[in-house]
Amino acid sequence: MAKATTTIRQVLNYQADHGLWFAANQALFNRVAAFYFEVIAAHEKVLDLSNKDALTALEKLTHTTQKNPTPAIPLAEIVEHIPAMFRRAAIHAALGSARSFYSHLSKWRSRREKAIAKGKKWTLRPPVPPRSWNKSATLYAGQWKQRTGSSIVLKVWTGTCWSWIKVRITGRELPADVEVGSPVLVRRGNQWWLHTSVEKQFSSPPKIEQQVTTNAETKICAVDLNLNEHVAVCTIQTVEGTILATKFMGGGREISGFRKKQLGRIARNRGKTGMIAEGEQDNGDLWHKINHVDDALAHLVSARIVQFAQQHEASILVFEHLGNLKPSRGKYSHRGNSKRAFWMKGRIFKYAKYKSYHEGILTSRVNPRHTSRECARCHSLVARYASGQPPEGYTSGTPLVLCHQCGMRGDADRNASLVIGQRLIARSQKPLQGKPPTPLFAERGEKSPGVAVCQDAKHEEGPSLLQARHADRNEHGTAQDRLLGMAERISDIPHQLRLFTE
Ligand SMILES: [Zn+2]
Repeated sequence: MAKATTTIRQVLNYQADHGLWFAANQALFNRVAAFYFEVIAAHEKVLDLSNKDALTALEKLTHTTQKNPTPAIPLAEIVEHIPAMFRRAAIHAALGSARSFYSHLSKWRSRREKAIAKGKKWTLRPPVPPRSWNKSATLYAGQWKQRTGSSIVLKVWTGTCWSWIKVRITGRELPADVEVGSPVLVRRGNQWWLHTSVEKQFSSPPKIEQQVTTNAETKICAVDLNLNEHVAVCTIQTVEGTILATKFMGGGREISGFRKKQLGRIARNRGKTGMIAEGEQDNGDLWHKINHVDDALAHLVSARIVQFAQQHEASILVFEHLGNLKPSRGKYSHRGNSKRAFWMKGRIFKYAKYKSYHEGILTSRVNPRHTSRECARCHSLVARYASGQPPEGYTSGTPLVLCHQCGMRGDADRNASLVIGQRLIARSQKPLQGKPPTPLFAERGEKSPGVAVCQDAKHEEGPSLLQARHADRNEHGTAQDRLLGMAERISDIPHQLRLFTE
């Protein structure tokens, strides 16, 4: 079985004075959490315990009961009559913050020790504990009841007493057959929301190799990500090679233009103020703006990719490895722009991967070498050109391709997308054909010095296998990848590519 979690965000409808109550409730929650943070700071050993044992220990230190009449630091001296479940939620919030703070602190200490031992100057300031608390209150069972699709009854601190109030819920309903977590009362601007994390269990989809080798009808959605007008070009094809659909996703020039404008403004600001103060982020607002737009676009594009794959019942999503960023020349705004576009490709992949996994679609990546140069029909080299130009040679970034071998003619990005899909099929079928991976380069070993030559794989000749591995190491170390059991494999080179001599 596999698991996927997501957060359902719902708007609450309530009377105006209830909004004030929610605020009072949150303020109290943070007072209690801050109190427990102090208790933990005075008893750091608590952090060595599991959350469950830490909770028991902290309650013993603070909570007055018949069995525990004189706790060391009574919570009741700060605030009285806190419901048990409210207290526990606040303790867990404090524990979370404390664990994060102390792990940062210990990292900082060990880095400082190392620096001092080496005789280096150490100027980095230590992390500081939270100065103000602004956490959203989590409502454990006992703090809410009677949840339906359209309403919920919440127990909140009104500022003077504890009160049960009924509020209406609008927006996305909780999906069926999920495990529902504790709701969280969240303020966004003037509006209060209810955030609920839900966990879905589903049977893991069969491995990619299995899907490709046992069912010729398996549909694959291949994605070519670009830096030009078509941010993403997706194609759907079956394992046996029938091409079913193509989708071009635009907006690339728009986003690039926007980014370039902002980067230009940053460059001009820098020119005016001279040097950037060391360690200080300049033009914070402008950077924030660029980041926000990039991230929003990455979410939008990835969601549309997954939607397209779903519409056509594709069960596998395939991208090409990004390789490494090849630094471009030119003006500051140009260099910065291509760097950010490269990062965005990574984000689109990452987002598409988790979004598709929620739909039972597996994601993989293949070797990017020459995906744009190979003919999707006969695997010969194609000519790439702009309209109005003779179809000869290979001009990077131009929109059209022509294969002189078989006469295939069409959009260059669509052709690349098809090649990406075919590569996954070829790679997955290989073990069955009993072929060993093709050793293209003598220096295939892991420790080969060839690793260092990683460049933008699309443009550079180099040991592709090593590039692919290098990229794997760079981008797949996250715990989540392993947790989700994504089918990720080191790419192999389809045998057709051996035809190339360059
Ligand atoms: Zn051809």
